Amino acid sequence: MPRRSNLTSRFLFDGLQSLNKTLLTKNSKLFYFKGNPCTLLQQFLLPFYSQQYSKIVVYISNEYTYEEKAVELQLQKLEKEGKISLCAFWNSTILSPTDLPFGSVANLPDVYTNFRKGVESSIGQYNVPKPLPPPSTIPLLPPELPCNVFEDIPDPDSFVKVDDSRTAFPLRGGEANALKRLNYYLSSNSVDKYKVTRNGLVGHEYSTKFSPYLAFGFISARRILKDLFEYEKRVTANDSTYWVWFELLWRDYFKLLALKFGNRIFHRGGLNIRGNSNPRWLENDSLLFHKWCMGQTGIPFVDAAMRELLATGFMSNRARQNVASFLVKDLNIDWTKGAEWFESNLIDHDPCSNYGNWLYVAGLGNDPIEGRRFNIMKQAKDYDRDCRFVLTWCPELQGCTSPHAPWMDRSFQGQGRYPAPAISIPPTWNKHLKAAAS
Ligand code: FAD
Repeated sequence: MPRRSNLTSRFLFDGLQSLNKTLLTKNSKLFYFKGNPCTLLQQFLLPFYSQQYSKIVVYISNEYTYEEKAVELQLQKLEKEGKISLCAFWNSTILSPTDLPFGSVANLPDVYTNFRKGVESSIGQYNVPKPLPPPSTIPLLPPELPCNVFEDIPDPDSFVKVDDSRTAFPLRGGEANALKRLNYYLSSNSVDKYKVTRNGLVGHEYSTKFSPYLAFGFISARRILKDLFEYEKRVTANDSTYWVWFELLWRDYFKLLALKFGNRIFHRGGLNIRGNSNPRWLENDSLLFHKWCMGQTGIPFVDAAMRELLATGFMSNRARQNVASFLVKDLNIDWTKGAEWFESNLIDHDPCSNYGNWLYVAGLGNDPIEGRRFNIMKQAKDYDRDCRFVLTWCPELQGCTSPHAPWMDRSFQGQGRYPAPAISIPPTWNKHLKAAAS
């Protein structure tokens, strides 16, 4: 599977163009190189600079997962060999692993609530590190830089021709757009209702939409919290404003879990916290998996969400939980396949949040409740009562009297406009089906 979609590429290059603009205002410039940064350093920059300058200083963000850490290790080796000076910062999370009140990452609690309570009681929500101001100037790069090594930053608009007007994420990448979204979400007071609206499915207002900006580092969680806490002082502090902190701390938690468990977050068997047995997955799953990916399972609530992901690169948290549970618990398909599909398609893909949440839903991570399985029909009735979500993404269900359970509508059945269910309907859905058909 490709590691990122065209929608994600557009978002990334929006951000690089925007960074370049900011650097130009500071008499600097962004140089774009595609490949391993250590190759760039070793093959092109070090031979060139070592004759003219005493040492190159490399600034990096500390990372949490294998591939990124592999680059970090290569850079550490160059530092040990005396070829560069390395300055690394924990800047993608609210808390650095060194700030933790649990001694070390090895003692990180295996249950989120214990982690959150530990942080809130020992550090306190309002005492977390503040963001640093951006530098007012950045030194000019030496004019003799070997420019032929670098490419032009790709044009973001070359990746996507037409946007889907139904998208819940009608936003573009870059720091300026991230700050605009943050400002909008606070100044429109949407944040005051976040806890009530966050399980929404249609439109951009129901949740913050910060995740894609956070995933690429276009904004930091500390910057979001700074503005959020100022808003709480100036306007209002309620359950909803608290809940944004609560969710951002989940993001930190999944990153710290990745540090604690290393590559186990990617293993089919999971974290093995409670000695989970290796689940048996369906063997010949390719057709079913394909139906799931394409939004053709015949279960509208699942199909709507999967079609949304494919068309827009975004899916709400409520829908992510449902499609993940459906894949693992109803279709019996290996969770890592679903996680890879998400990785390939989500604009906000973050390895820690993605694999951490999939493990959680699959019951192989740190969910304290064992055997949790979403009742898709109940979820559909609870969160899409007016069927707006399924009709938005499965328009061929227009005219069906039970859009959440089209197989219940005899006159609609068999018209071939919408696929038949790919599974036998679980008996636990029955009582909710009656409501769906009424
Ligand atoms: P909001 O509801 O507005 O939340 C505010 C912020 O809190 C988010 O931007 C995010 O940074 C953080 N947050 C909220 N919920 C979670 C959570 N469950 N786990 C971690 N952080 C959270 N989130 C990603 O950022 N990248 C992923 O690759 C990703 N994959 C997921 C896969 C599955 C199977 C599931 C169930 C969830 C996944 N999430 C992922 C978490 C969550 O769904 C998204 O962060 C959220 O939907 C993004 O929309 P938002 O910014 O409007 O969120």
